[in-house]
Amino acid sequence: MTQQLTIALSKGRIFEETLPLLANAGIVPTEDPESSRKLIIATNHEHIRLIIVRATDVPTYVQYGAADFGIAGRDVLIEHGGEGLYQPLNLNIAKCRMMVAVRQGFDYQAASRDGQRLRVATKYPNIAAEHFASKGVHVDIIKLYGSMELAPLVGLSDAIVDLVSTGNTLKANNLEAVEHITDISSRLVVNKASLKTKHELLNPIINAFAQAIV
Ligand code: AMP
Repeated sequence: MTQQLTIALSKGRIFEETLPLLANAGIVPTEDPESSRKLIIATNHEHIRLIIVRATDVPTYVQYGAADFGIAGRDVLIEHGGEGLYQPLNLNIAKCRMMVAVRQGFDYQAASRDGQRLRVATKYPNIAAEHFASKGVHVDIIKLYGSMELAPLVGLSDAIVDLVSTGNTLKANNLEAVEHITDISSRLVVNKASLKTKHELLNPIINAFAQAIV
C-alpha cells in the first residue's frame, strides 16, 4: 500500500513563506487556502496533502499523528510544550520578536520594581510567566486570544507580551516596546512515529526544505 503524507499548515504568512520550501521539494498545492474554503488541499503529488489548521493547533495535529509534519512558530511551540514532536529544522521564516510593550509614557521601570504587581495581557501566558519570573517581577497574567494591543489602552492591563514584526501595530496604538524577550521564527515539526515509519517519503522533503532555507 502506498503511504499517504499529511502536512499541517496555517493560513497567511506561514503558508505563503512555506510555498517556496514545498516547491523545492517538488510539492505544489492545487488550491490557495485564502480563496478556497477547503480544509484539506490536494497537491500535485497523489499521496501528499495539506491540511489547513489554526497556527496554535499545528503541534497538536502533528503530536497525535493526524498530520505527519507541520510548520509552527517557535512562540506556538513554546506554549504547546513540544511533546511528541521532533523539531529538526529552524526554517527561518515568519521571523519576528516576542516583546513586552506598554502605553507610550508609562513608567515601566517603576511599575515593575520590587513589591509591585504588574498586570500583563497576552496570548502567551507560559512565555510571559517565565520571562517575568526570571526577572523576579510579580505579575498577574490575563489570557487573551487576540488584539492584545487594546488591553493597555482601556485599562485591562499595564503591559502586553506580543509578537512584533515591523512595530507598526504598536505605533498605531500609541504603544512602545520596552523589553525584548526572544527572537521567533517558524520550525518544522515532525511526528516521531512518522519519522520512523515514513522516512523514505519524509527524508527527501526534509532535505529539500533544509536546502531552501535562506
Ligand atoms: P507589526 O505591526 O508588523 O509589528 O506586526 C504586529 C502584529 O502582527 C501583532 O498583532 C502580532 O501579533 C502579529 N505578528 C507579527 N509577526 C507575527 C508572526 N510571525 N506570527 C504571527 N503573528 C505575528
